[in-house]
Amino acid sequence: MTQHILAGLRALTAKKLREKGLTHEEIAKLLNVDRTVITHYLAGRIPAKEAVKCAKVTAEKFYPRDAVLFIKTVCDDNDIVTTITETLISDNIDVDVAISSKCNLCKICIDICPTKAITIENDLINIDKNKCCGCELCQELCQKNAIFLKIIKDNRGELD
Ligand code: SF4
Ligand code: SF4
Repeated sequence: MTQHILAGLRALTAKKLREKGLTHEEIAKLLNVDRTVITHYLAGRIPAKEAVKCAKVTAEKFYPRDAVLFIKTVCDDNDIVTTITETLISDNIDVDVAISSKCNLCKICIDICPTKAITIENDLINIDKNKCCGCELCQELCQKNAIFLKIIKDNRGELD
């Protein structure tokens, strides 16, 4: 069952990446599948319509935190989670972020971030708003309560 749902997420992600101009080979590499699988995805031959529908509901309707946790449940490859999450959620979410001086650079937020949006620059935590999907896991897990994050725009719902 989880493999079907993951296939739906991969198919939806492949479609969006193709629309952004990536080649079949590039998409296959990002999603860690054979190029022929991408061709089938883009032709709508696989997976089953129900799997794609489930993926769409996850990406469009779930709160970002729940969507990320669900994607992590069906996919144990962090790089693929990043590709799916960035493509289906981050691209359609705008956030405002601020980091307080209470941060002690413990890096917990960096480790938990599903889209690799958090880096250290000049000894300060930096969150790339373009990569952030608004899951709020960093804010939730920060022991210093140093992250203030708010979703200011949610354009999901147009993933057809
Ligand atoms: S989890 Fe909090 S304290 Fe740790 S590096 Fe991130 S912002 Fe700083
Ligand atoms: S909310 Fe935090 S953990 Fe989630 S994607 Fe944005 S920066 Fe990463």
